[in-house]
Amino acid sequence: MKIMINNEEYNVVIDKKISTKNIYIRVKENLDIYVTCNTFTTDREIIKLINNNISSIEKMINKRKRKKEKEEYFYYLGKRYDLVYLNKDGITFGEEKVFVNNSFDLNKWYKKQAEEIFQIELDKMYNAFIYRIPYPSLCIRKMKTRWGVCNTKTHKVTLNLELIKKNIIYLDYVIVHELSHLLYPNHSRDFWQCVEDNFKDYKKIRKELKQDE
Ligand SMILES: [Zn+2]
Repeated sequence: MKIMINNEEYNVVIDKKISTKNIYIRVKENLDIYVTCNTFTTDREIIKLINNNISSIEKMINKRKRKKEKEEYFYYLGKRYDLVYLNKDGITFGEEKVFVNNSFDLNKWYKKQAEEIFQIELDKMYNAFIYRIPYPSLCIRKMKTRWGVCNTKTHKVTLNLELIKKNIIYLDYVIVHELSHLLYPNHSRDFWQCVEDNFKDYKKIRKELKQDE
């Protein structure tokens, strides 16, 4: 079975099982729409169900597409490159392409770059900070839901490794945000005033960062 969504044709794969009580719709990595249902479910019922859930199917498709796009491209400091695999060691940057070996550990490379760049930016934002705050230690790791965390007791700032993929202005904002927590642990009015005093354009940058989550 095939269906059209937004002028694009999609395969519908129907998987009938005796043991299944409900009908499930999933979108596979290859963008096939996968329907799991009972052996007694008719094609008409399946079509009706798909039509009733078209907007959530669309969302699933878009999510898959976004994920795929992220895998095909290489993002570094706000620039997008095509990722090209070559039989050559290390990493080479072209104007719009990045060449790596198949076994190249991209995450390890990101981490290494981040350790250097994040520390430089942390020092830069710390030195420019207009209020007296303790000098924080830096930790970098991948986080699912946050760009940064500040431990106000140990003065440790943790930054999301994913920031290495984005324009450096977002990193600077997150750093100022976390440094401000060294003065104000909560998101109080005083906190946001402190952020603004140290990062004029913070509202715009914060909004853009939120949209990208
Ligand atoms: Zn915060």
